[in-house]
Amino acid sequence: MAQVKGTLINAWKSFLKERYGEDRLMSAIQLLDSNDRIHLLSPILDSTWYPIEMQQVMGRLTKILAAPTDKDLASELGRYMADHVYTKIYRTVLAGGAGKNKSTDWFDDILFRDLRKCVSESTGPTSSVSRYYYLEGKPTSGQCRSLGAFIIRQQELIGRQNVICVHQKCSSKGDDCCEFAVEWD
Ligand SMILES: [Zn+2]
Repeated sequence: MAQVKGTLINAWKSFLKERYGEDRLMSAIQLLDSNDRIHLLSPILDSTWYPIEMQQVMGRLTKILAAPTDKDLASELGRYMADHVYTKIYRTVLAGGAGKNKSTDWFDDILFRDLRKCVSESTGPTSSVSRYYYLEGKPTSGQCRSLGAFIIRQQELIGRQNVICVHQKCSSKGDDCCEFAVEWD
C-alpha cells in the first residue's frame, strides 16, 4: 500500500489555510463526507506515514475551495510544498547533503513510500532528466503539474536560476513513466 508522509498533507492544509483563510477551510472540511472529515480533523504528524488516499481527500477539499479565478492551483501547491518541506522539517537536507551536484532522488523516498521510484540523470552541465516510475495507480494531471512545480522550486532552492521543467512523458497517457526534463542557467 502506497503511503504519503504527513508533512506533505500538513503543507497542503497550510497552503489552503493561507490562501482561503481558516474559516473557509473549516467550512469546506464540514462539507466533506464523514470519513474524509475524520481524517482531516485528527492531528497529522509530519513524520508519520499515511495512506496515499489522503491525497485524494485533500484533492476533494481543494475542489470545494477552488475559485474560477484560481488559474493553476496545482502548480502553486507544488511550489508551496517544496518550500514547506525544505524550509521546515527537512531544511538540513539542502543545506547539508543535496548540493548542486548531488542527486535528490532519495528524497522522494522520504515523502512517498511504495508509490513510485524516482531516477534522475544528468544530461549536460545545466540539464537533467527525472523519471518517476509509478508502482501503484497513475497520477492525475494535477498531481503531475504539482510535481513539475515542486521540481522547479527544489532546483531553485539548491541555487539554480531560470529553471524550466518540461513534462515530456506521462504515465497517465500510457508512457512507462512520468519524465521531466529540467534546464537551468
Ligand atoms: Zn505525468
